[in-house]
Formats: sequence, C-alpha cells, structure tokens
Amino acid sequence: MYDFSNFGFGTRAIHAGQEPDETTGAIMTPIFQTSTYVQESPGKHKGYAYARGKNPTRSALEQNIASLEKAKYGLCFSSGMGAIDTVIKLLKPGDEVIATQDLYGGSYRMFTKVFEPLGIKFKFVDLYDASNLLKHVSDSTKLIWIETPTNPTLQIIDIAAIVENVKGKNILVCVDNTFASPYLQNPLLMGADVVMHSATKYLGGHSDVVMGALCINDTALFEKLAFIQNSCGPTPGPMDSFLVMRGIKTLHVRMDRHCYNGKEVAQFLKSHPKVGKVNWPGFADHPNHDIAKKQMKDFGGMLSFSLKDDNIETAFEFAKSTKVFSLAESLGGVESLISHPASMTHASIPKEEREKSGVSDSLLRISVGIEDANDLIEDLKQALN
Ligand SMILES: *Cc1c(COP(=O)(O)O)cnc(C)c1O
Repeated sequence: MYDFSNFGFGTRAIHAGQEPDETTGAIMTPIFQTSTYVQESPGKHKGYAYARGKNPTRSALEQNIASLEKAKYGLCFSSGMGAIDTVIKLLKPGDEVIATQDLYGGSYRMFTKVFEPLGIKFKFVDLYDASNLLKHVSDSTKLIWIETPTNPTLQIIDIAAIVENVKGKNILVCVDNTFASPYLQNPLLMGADVVMHSATKYLGGHSDVVMGALCINDTALFEKLAFIQNSCGPTPGPMDSFLVMRGIKTLHVRMDRHCYNGKEVAQFLKSHPKVGKVNWPGFADHPNHDIAKKQMKDFGGMLSFSLKDDNIETAFEFAKSTKVFSLAESLGGVESLISHPASMTHASIPKEEREKSGVSDSLLRISVGIEDANDLIEDLKQALN
C-alpha cells in the first residue's frame, strides 16, 4: 500500500487506504459482500476470517479516515452512536465522564438513559471557558467528551486547552468532530486521544448512509476499542463502507462550498430585521471566534438562529415554508436542511437543561448545503416574509 501520509488533504481523501484491485485492476475498492473467508488450514488465512471482525472494503475506509485525521488507526461502525457506545464501554461502574453541556441529543440520551443506570456517572458542564473543567474533575473522572462546534448553538471549545487541563491525570479526551469534519479540524493533532465521527454527515455527505468512525493514535487504546467493537458487534457492512469511501473523495471540495455558503447565509440572516441571534463561529463577535480561528481551517456550514418573534409557532411556520431547505434531521449532506432542535434532535433533553445551553423554543438549526448561495438566501427571504 502506497503511503500517502505526507500528501495534501484532497490527495489523501481520494487515495489513502486504496489501491487498484489485485485481481481485476478495478480502480474503486470492490464491495466485498461476504460474511466469511476460506482458510487454507485452520487459522491460516489472508488476514480475514469473519466479516464482523474485518472486511476489506471497511479496512480501506478505516485507513482512509485515519489518514484524514492524521491518526495511526481508524475504526468504522454501523452508526455514530455505535462508535460512541464503544468508547463509553472502556469505562466501568463508578467512573465519571465530563461532557460538554451543549451536546448531540442522542449522545445525551445514551449517556443518561443507557449508561447512567449501569453505574457510569455523567456531568454536563459548560466548557466555553476551558478552565471550568478543573472545578469538576475528580479522582473518578476518566473521560472528557467534547463536541466543537457544539450542536446546535455552535459554541467553540478550546480543544488544546482542555487537553492541557487534564494532562498527566490519566483522563481520556474524546472529541466528537462531526460538525467540523477532518477537513476543518484535526483534534488528535491538538492532543486529544480519540476522535469520533458520525460519518452519516459530512464524510458520507450525500444523505444516503448511516455510519460512525473513531480515530486513535495509541496502539493499546486502539486494541481495546477494536476488541469491544468485535465483541459487541456494531460494525458497518461493505456496501455502506463503499458509499462513505466514495463520499469522502469529494469532501474537501464540498467543505469549501459548505463554508462559503455558510458564510453567505449567516451574513444574510444577521442583517435581516426579523432574525434574532445568529450562532455562527465566523462572526467576529462570536464568544470564542478567536479559538475557532486558531483550531479550525474555516467556519463550516452549520449555524443556528432565533427569530425576534421568539415563539414556537412562528418558528414552526418558518420551518414549514422554505422550498429549497428541507425540514429534516441530520446534517452535512449536499442538500440544505432546516430543523427545530427543541422538538426534533434535542427533544429528549428536558426543557430546563435545553434552555441552559441556549436551545430556546424558537431556535432553528440550518445545515447549509452546496446549492447556489443566492437560491438559499432567496428561499430564506421568502420564508421570513
Ligand atoms: C448525528 C450525530 C451523531 C450520531 O451519529 P449517527 O450516525 O446518527 O448514529 C453524534 N454526534 C453528532 C454531533 C451528530 O450530529
């Protein structure tokens, strides 16, 4: 396998982990639709025994994603939640996790409804100021779970500062890098131990597949995670692996357009008389704008905003009247989506918790796609009228 590790992002996105098929020369990695592999003699095989453990299509994708995150190892999962589940299973009862307060609703649900009853403790902390972390770390703290930019209020957490704060304490730092994608941000280079992705979003990029990924540098940690993955079984199939691999080949080109359109839409919304607060890390008055500039290549295509007429019916009316933006959960695809976090992605978080983290009843979240920026702005304009 040719080593692409010193090449630029676009070259790695297209080539890393992949080479022409040995038997046919096919340039695309084949979809190895098989559950088992024939052995020459018991235990003697070509590295593949049973497809829950390993599949060649998935292996190519895992190496590709690892290369994008500048990681030694990659692991792919049947969903982002499957990846998160595997990380939390590193812990045992009594261990404590400190997580960002503003969090993907599904992560919050898994932490509080699945793992808390099994004896793992979770604290949800505002990490906008990274030094806040120190007030909450105890001898039981074993994992810091960060999302940045956060979902859906687009807060920025200083990854390097968080890592610095727990240095030498034997605490893992895991970053859910779904919103930024590896094109905009590489948390392992800032000292994080694990990077998690919902590859369903920007990596896949076409709203046609559900997948998760982890990237790791430490060999012992990788082996533990791979062991849990193979033991518990949240592995993706070869067809899904192929789809994500194909999606990633255009990640850098898509992200540039997401960022450009995101900026256009953010500026339009900010200037509109009916729009209240617009959350987008590219604004100079965004609370952690300087940190975003430091740790991200650009500001991404996600933003959220409230309406001046701050009530749920007005927000619903708006969300229903866009024509180019579709009302749907998820994000990171080529098409623009709009969602209402309080009733959709974040409905499982109690109202007081939600409002503490800025998810008001009228907050709307937008995943800016890669259509023509003018059409997106015209669509928002007519919906606001
Ligand atoms: C979607 C998402 C997840 C969950 O991933 P799935 O692929 O839907 O299981 C986790 N974190 C973030 C930030 C997400 O947007």
